[in-house]
Amino acid sequence: MSMENGLVIRSVRTRAVRVPLNFTLGTSAAIVRSVPLVLMDLVSADGVEGRSYVFCYTSAGAKAVAAHAAEAVALLEKSPVSPRRLWEVAARRLALLGVTGPVRMALSALDVALWDAIAIRAAMPLATLLGGAPRALKAYDSRGLGLMPKEQLAAEVDKLLAGGLRALKLRLGYPTVDEDLAAVRLVRGRMPDGSELMVDYNQALDLHEATRRGLALQAEGLTWLEEPIRHDAYQDYAALCRKLDLPLQIGENFNGPEAMMDAVLAGAVDLAMPDVSRIGGVTGWMQAAGLASARGIPLSSHLMPEISAHLLAASPTAHWLEYVDWADCLLLQPLRIANGEAIVPSRPGLGLEWNEDMIGRLERMD
Ligand SMILES: [Mg+2]
Repeated sequence: MSMENGLVIRSVRTRAVRVPLNFTLGTSAAIVRSVPLVLMDLVSADGVEGRSYVFCYTSAGAKAVAAHAAEAVALLEKSPVSPRRLWEVAARRLALLGVTGPVRMALSALDVALWDAIAIRAAMPLATLLGGAPRALKAYDSRGLGLMPKEQLAAEVDKLLAGGLRALKLRLGYPTVDEDLAAVRLVRGRMPDGSELMVDYNQALDLHEATRRGLALQAEGLTWLEEPIRHDAYQDYAALCRKLDLPLQIGENFNGPEAMMDAVLAGAVDLAMPDVSRIGGVTGWMQAAGLASARGIPLSSHLMPEISAHLLAASPTAHWLEYVDWADCLLLQPLRIANGEAIVPSRPGLGLEWNEDMIGRLERMD
């Protein structure tokens, strides 16, 4: 079949699995010991397989993503589909339900699987198909350093640094600013010179408290201050950006490039870190990357590093890859870390190949 009219979907299979974490992660929002992931396998009429996966936050989220994906596929089956047509048809059809949350995550997962199939058929890494090339990316370790007692925090810093990355993310939002500062100094004190530290409040504060704590943290040499207040309070972020020298990082909750545009126009964005499953898959990411490039905004990623790595490698203002190992056990070739960087694989497509033995042993959620 010719690629000119897109690819005909023969089938899409989703599997919702619960994956135990190597590091329990306690944030100001939740304590996470295992993660619900939905794995997606798309097969085209001529036998090309495209894959993606998406982190679904909760059990019901995983079920909803799988159900919405199935409905979207039913809208598209039997006629050629491109990523653009996916969004035109499905987003239009689902507009009244709302193309947000699990609906957007389902469409994003389909978009990623479609792009993967297209890149595999073209025998190119996705990064190359998108105008970049596989390369080593700056990456920080985001697996641990939740809110926890000091002794545990110290031990976890050492364990994470042994993993090979030289930048870490620390969760903040202790009851007092002094405890936040103590955690930053403890972690900093165990990290080698030249390493970088990001902090994330997971939307714990109000504007007043964020200003107070942000000013207190400014002298600590942090790389960024992430989501101190609720994610969509763009006017408040703009006020914070003006008050703080410390760069603010937002974006994991941008619902599509339109939300990022609103945030940028509000003056709310120093640094941006879209989530591939909320920004709109590869298609939405590349639109966000264009916006970031036009405004000179450094672009980082949120979770799902195996997918995000290809996207950052094709983004003009690529900044930091957020590294977690959540999907490692599902993959025959997990994302490789070498010399303090993440290596974008040069296999065709995204390079996702499932470890079926391991998947078969995981708790199913569907
Ligand atoms: Mg975050």
